[in-house]
Amino acid sequence: MTSQTPAPRIAIVGAGIIGLAHAVAALDAGFRVTVLEQDAAAVTASVRNFGHVGASVQFGELGELAAASLPIWLSLAERAGVTARRSGTLAVARSAAEAAVLEEVAAERAPEGARLLPGAEAAAALALEAGSRAAAAVRAGLLFPADVTADPRTAVARIAAWVGAHERGEVRFSTTVHAVHTGRVETNRGTVEADHIIVATGHLLGRLFPEVAAAAGVRECALQMARVRPPHAMGLGPAVLTGTSMLRYGRFAGPAADALRAELFAARPEFAEIAANVMFTQQADGTLLVGDTHAAHDAAPPFLDERWSRILLDEVAALLGAPELEVLERWQGLYATSELGDICRAAPAPGVSIVTLTTGVGMTVGLGLGARTIAALVQGVEPATH
Ligand SMILES: Cc1cc2nc3c(=O)[nH]c(=O)nc-3n(C[C@H](O)[C@H](O)[C@H](O)COP(=O)(O)OP(=O)(O)OC[C@H]3O[C@@H](n4cnc5c(N)ncnc54)[C@H](O)[C@@H]3O)c2cc1C
Repeated sequence: MTSQTPAPRIAIVGAGIIGLAHAVAALDAGFRVTVLEQDAAAVTASVRNFGHVGASVQFGELGELAAASLPIWLSLAERAGVTARRSGTLAVARSAAEAAVLEEVAAERAPEGARLLPGAEAAAALALEAGSRAAAAVRAGLLFPADVTADPRTAVARIAAWVGAHERGEVRFSTTVHAVHTGRVETNRGTVEADHIIVATGHLLGRLFPEVAAAAGVRECALQMARVRPPHAMGLGPAVLTGTSMLRYGRFAGPAADALRAELFAARPEFAEIAANVMFTQQADGTLLVGDTHAAHDAAPPFLDERWSRILLDEVAALLGAPELEVLERWQGLYATSELGDICRAAPAPGVSIVTLTTGVGMTVGLGLGARTIAALVQGVEPATH
């Protein structure tokens, strides 16, 4: 790209974290960028999550993308004023089977800097009173110091504002894309021309590309979440994972996690019923984002099941030694899910790339994924094949 010819334009459909990740990487690579978002502000998965950039608990391709994402989050804290801090992640074990998972990870596949903590130290990281029943119940912890916690409510809005303020960037909200062709995007506000188009519409992919979504097995995963007041002064600590989290993330997978799954689901079948991942993050205002449950649907019903919420909230209350948690807000989140793979990449027409993450780790891997797509474009490689 020379200063004489205008830089190629990339149009991006969707201003969630995946679309904006591509926008940031494209601006950094010298492209002109137009982001098109149907809502007046992004309000779906990318604002409804924990803000956990849990790179250390990912593995394989997701682990590589997550590792690439961490420095980009920290750069966006500087450049775009995103609230993101290096909180670390603490996995807490309260049974022998959970402690065995942490010991196995620490011994065989710990990321750099990870530290196995004795129970008392892990309990102290949760600000539990020494000698209390809750503190005594903590058997061990595994601390992953590199991870980041972002504020999910403001992050994508601030990144969008940064993109919009960039001399080569533009974000058009309240602009619904209804067709994508080579070289142009049709919207409810007219046609947008672009050299390359990236479709990052999350769980709504099937509205624009039903065949691609069907072939990739894309469905909606519905999750229940809550924001609670911390039951005691906790300071700003790490994101906290529990035994059910050890059954979800690649870093923990192994014989000890298999044994934990059998033991935990036999003792607590309700965790299997709601596909629980009992965890929380601490936000800058001190409140805790607590979740979550998982259920796959073709069209997720919007209703929050109070019994499911209680299972989560009671478990976090028990971990924190509180009789009950004060709930400030509850909501449902949706993300794209598939049993066929973690990322749906497709090129439905020349110069059109679909990038949909089909597992619930977009905050963790999205920025790395955007950087990878744009690097492929710069090299002249179709990103869907990269
Ligand atoms: C409750 C919950 C908790 C989670 N916790 C975490 C976590 O802690 N860490 C983590 O890494 N991940 C987490 N995730 C997953 C993460 O939030 C998602 O993977 C990620 O936000 C997906 O981003 P996206 O940009 O693909 O989708 P979205 O955020 O849904 O963005 C897609 C955007 O595209 C727009 N759009 C769709 N169709 C059109 C169209 N035709 N025209 C114009 N615009 C359109 C939508 O309006 C939307 O704004 C969680 C998800 C949920 C729901």
